[in-house]
Amino acid sequence: MLNDNKMKEKENGEHYCLGVESTADDFSVGISTFDGEILANIISAYVPSERGIHPREAARHHGEVANKVLENAFKKARIKPRDLSIISFSQGPGLGPCLRTGATVARALASYLGIPLVGINHCVAHIEIGKLKTDTKDPVTLYVSGGNTIVSAFDSGRYRVFGETLDIALGNCLDVFAREAGLHQRVDEPFGAVVEKIAAKGKKLIHLPYTVKGMDMSFSGLLTAAINLLKRGEYKLEDLCYSLQETVFSMVTEVTERALAHTEKKEVLLTGGVAANKRLQSRIKAIAKEHDAKFRVMPREFAVDNGAMIAWTGVLAHTHGIVTPIEESFVRLRWRLEEVEIPWMK
Ligand code: AMP
Ligand code: MG
Repeated sequence: MLNDNKMKEKENGEHYCLGVESTADDFSVGISTFDGEILANIISAYVPSERGIHPREAARHHGEVANKVLENAFKKARIKPRDLSIISFSQGPGLGPCLRTGATVARALASYLGIPLVGINHCVAHIEIGKLKTDTKDPVTLYVSGGNTIVSAFDSGRYRVFGETLDIALGNCLDVFAREAGLHQRVDEPFGAVVEKIAAKGKKLIHLPYTVKGMDMSFSGLLTAAINLLKRGEYKLEDLCYSLQETVFSMVTEVTERALAHTEKKEVLLTGGVAANKRLQSRIKAIAKEHDAKFRVMPREFAVDNGAMIAWTGVLAHTHGIVTPIEESFVRLRWRLEEVEIPWMK
């Protein structure tokens, strides 16, 4: 039964969207009102044991925690499943088994409740929650995470990709290096943060391959070079971490600055798990200042993969006429940001 308050809200037309995120190592459920108030954002991170994310193991984690995460989200939001108006889910890009687990949860909920399902592009969602939470309207976005490295900005109906990685993501580069160096991560201190701490003690800048081709970046050669130097044992780990950070951050900073100069946008948004890095923040802040642009960084809760961003983008999409029929709700492992039309941006 709905309590009196909720009953009133429903009568007054209060609407909620529940969003499911499961593209990679995190399973998360968020609940947003149609006005963009985030009522819940519950994240369960899968921490891989040794060799990095194994898609099937991460998917098993998602399946195991889904029930509890959903329950906690409803508790936090203080609403019942029957109060929901729409269900949205991360339809891609991401790891197949992980995406499928989230999609299954979302489909089951939507069909059980008899409400519309909306498939959301994960990268679009990072940008939309960024705009919502930092009060930016039309930024150049640098999205750097464990799975993505993308510099984008809105133009002619879509978020265009100005630059991206040609191979691995920046966060993944830091993670693999940290693992090779025998470092340990925790849920509250991921590898990137461990590298950041050690890098703060580094002083010597060691030459590593710097690869920017046009507007795109490559991190895998650099990673191999850094690991080789690590194994040779000639350098201090702190100097290697420092040099690795400086080199990869210089690359993304260069590409972001060129996108900013080209588009002449007046805002820069830094998001994704790597956005937590203070050194990266100061580099991007500096170029924003040079171009008279406002710099905004996402708070960690909404910078990492999270269900709230899927819920909020679900609201935007659905209120602009987008529905994903169940039979078309297959997951899209390589769904590119610029393929998505953005009718809510004019
Ligand atoms: P996400 O893929 O958005 O969930 O973010 C996870 C990525 O962010 C991983 O590659 C982490 O190592 C990275 N990360 C988290 N905190 C930091 C930090 N302080 N500095 C650099 N990378 C970080
Ligand atoms: Mg993650």
